[in-house]
Amino acid sequence: MEFQIGDVIKMKKPHPCGSSEWEILRVGMDFRLKCMGCGRQVMVSRKLVEKNFRGFVKKACG
Ligand SMILES: [Zn+2]
Repeated sequence: MEFQIGDVIKMKKPHPCGSSEWEILRVGMDFRLKCMGCGRQVMVSRKLVEKNFRGFVKKACG
């Protein structure tokens, strides 16, 4: 799976605020994601991101 900084992804589990869409701020062993609903940032392992990934909402480029 190709994840890029700036992509917006949809995750299986929604954030407590109700949004299930996240912007990718950093990629690597751990991803930094920003909730599109409330703006809170979290660190999530790449493995967990791939497990809960439900599709791209927006690609950063291309
Ligand atoms: Zn949120």
